Parts: sequence; C-alpha cells; structure tokens
Amino acid sequence: GILIFRKWPSSTKISNDSVNMVEGPSSLNSTFDLDSLKIQENIGMGRYGSVARGTLNGFSVAIKTFAFENKQYFQNERDIYSLPLMDYPCLPKYFGSEERIGEDSQIEYLLVISYAPNGCLQDYLRNHTVDWPTLCKMMQTITQGLAYLHSDICKGDLVKPCIAHRDLTSRNILVNDDLSCIICDFGFAIQIAGPKCTQNGEQQDMDSLCLTDVGTLRYMAPEALEGAVNLRDCESSLKQVDMYALGLILWEIATRCSDLYQGLEVPEYKLPFEAELGKHPTVDQMQVLVARHKAHPLFPEIWKDSNPAVRALKETIEDCWDQDAEARLTALCVEERLAEIPVLWERYKAGLNIYGVSPTVNQTGSSQDNGP
Ligand code: ADP
Ligand code: MG
Ligand code: MG
Repeated sequence: GILIFRKWPSSTKISNDSVNMVEGPSSLNSTFDLDSLKIQENIGMGRYGSVARGTLNGFSVAIKTFAFENKQYFQNERDIYSLPLMDYPCLPKYFGSEERIGEDSQIEYLLVISYAPNGCLQDYLRNHTVDWPTLCKMMQTITQGLAYLHSDICKGDLVKPCIAHRDLTSRNILVNDDLSCIICDFGFAIQIAGPKCTQNGEQQDMDSLCLTDVGTLRYMAPEALEGAVNLRDCESSLKQVDMYALGLILWEIATRCSDLYQGLEVPEYKLPFEAELGKHPTVDQMQVLVARHKAHPLFPEIWKDSNPAVRALKETIEDCWDQDAEARLTALCVEERLAEIPVLWERYKAGLNIYGVSPTVNQTGSSQDNGP
C-alpha cells in the first residue's frame, strides 16, 4: 500500500452535506471545523499516507491523507488522537479528521494535527548537528512523550489508557521550532486496558493479537525479530519493545552532538545499524546481527568517559536496548535519569574550570611575575 506522491488539488474538499463526516469519536470530540482548512504543499511521504502542510483558523497544521485501502491505519490513528487527555506538550495537537473525495474520485481520509516546522528527527539529524543542551532537550521531550503514552492517566472521569506505539523510529518523531520533539504516527499503536486491548477499532484479547509483524525492521527489538515476544504480560512486553527503539533513537541524536567530540568534526548521520548493514538490511541480516549476535550500535571512541555525564548517557542508552527485554528501563525511569545528566555535565564543567583549564594561573598577578 505505497501511495503515489501527487500534487494537492486546490479545492477538492467537498462540503459536509455531500459526504458524511467520518463516524467515530473524533467527530464528537473535535472542536475544530475543518471547512476552513487550507492545504498548501506536500511535505512528506510515509508508508501509508502523504503529508501536507496547511493552515486551519490561523494554526499551522499538517494534513495526513490516507487512501481508501489504508482506512484501518487512519481509523486507528484517529482513535488514538481522540482518546481523552491526549492534549499533551510532547504529542502533536489533534485538530480533527474527515472523509472526502480525492482528486481521483476515490474516498480518502484526512487527519489534521499541529505542524512541526523542523520535520522529522531523522531528516533534522541528517542536516544538522546538535549541541549538548539541544541533545538533552530532544532526549527529554521524546522520553516524556513516551512515558505519557505508556501511562494510564486519570483526571476526574477521564481516562487515558496505556498506549504502546509499536513503530518508534526517528521518522516518527517530529522536531518543533524550539527543537523540542513530539511523537507522531499512531497507525500501529495499541491501547491497553487491563487484559483487553484495542486496535483498528476492535477490542481483542491479548493472546489473539499478532504482535510481531509490525514496526520498522531496523528498529525491531531482538525478541520481535525472533517472534518471541512474551505474550503473558503483553502490556510490559509491548512497552519493552518501544523502549528498545527509544534506545536506538537516543543513540542517533547523541551521535550528532557536537559537544561530545572534543572539537573534532562530527561524523555524518547514520541510521542505527547502517554502519553494519547498510541502508537496506534484510530480515535475515537483522535477525543474525541483533538477535543471534546480540549486537547494538557502537558509541564513538572519542566520547569522553572521564565525564560522568557522558558515562551516564551511555549507560542509560544501553539500559534501553538491553537484550533482555525485562531488564530494560521504563520510560519513566529514563526520564528521571535524563534529568540528572545535565546536572552531571555542569558539575563536570565547573570542576574543569577550577582544576583543569588554566595554563596561566595568577595571570592577573603583579608585574613582578614578568621579571625584569
Ligand atoms: P506514515 O504513517 O505514512 O509513516 P507519518 O505520520 O509518519 O506517516 O508522516 C510521514 C512523514 O511526514 C513524517 O516522517 C514527517 O517527515 C512528515 N510529517 C508528518 N507529520 C508531520 C507534522 N505534523 N509536521 C511536520 N512534518 C510531518
Ligand atoms: Mg511514519
Ligand atoms: Mg505509520
């Protein structure tokens, strides 16, 4: 189901009286009238939809369009955005969705969310390096978003169930103007409430779910590659698979952090396992490397282990992608660890200033130091 990239027609939106608004919770929840939606230009192509930039009542929005045959991904994503308490800083803002007739007279589905001006994280990292404060901000906001998704949240009568994303990659993370990040693309996400979970609008028992055939190959955890996801505690298993992918994403950002290379040039961006397997690894190659040989991405030699912040960063990333799914950190725990890392960094820098850097001690001293 790959969509063909095409130009946006200027006015194919048809009025609500000729086509029913999409049934479902979104039309009840949505406070935004999509009539004034203006679609400007195509900005992205994913697996199941094309994405355009536009405006809605003065807001800058992204419009994701799904072809008719990809309706299930649309429905699933809409249902996730429509859950209570999904309005959260590290997630896109959801404006609404609708069904319409596209240029080719086929039914298509639109999902409207807030626009992230810096596009997806992967493209951003390919084109930019980041400094230490930006690395921290990106890691913290992504982790905060994931911790929020993974939590059951209750406020009064409102309940947001635990959500496993199941396709976390640097393409499904977006970069805001201020370089904070948000998690997007909920096409594969599952809502988990006790023993029941909901996907594609259907409630199912955990054991009837097919858990291992989704995601992006490069980011698949070893147990997912082997088809050995533990089905006894589905909620934990699915979160652990997300945490593995989070580890790879944190590694990706860190490899582009200029402050970690001690003045040397930052190596160009590489996908996780690109150094080992190139741009198009096969399932077999991934199984052998990640599941059988238990490989993970490498940290550059030059990163300074004498700096406790760098050590803590590496340990945190390693504890996300642990081979043993049950040994992986939870998102909440990563959030706590990441809050410590900038403190360690500042302390280390301050220590350097006192003891390390100063070839000209007493520089301000009296003229007698200069001798006759
Ligand atoms: P798919 O399910 O087809 O992968 P995504 O939701 O991941 O679709 O979107 C595909 C791409 O479009 C993203 O990787 C990103 O580059 C771009 N994109 C999606 N949503 C936005 C947004 N809100 N702001 C900016 N770019 C976006
Ligand atoms: Mg995507
Ligand atoms: Mg998707």
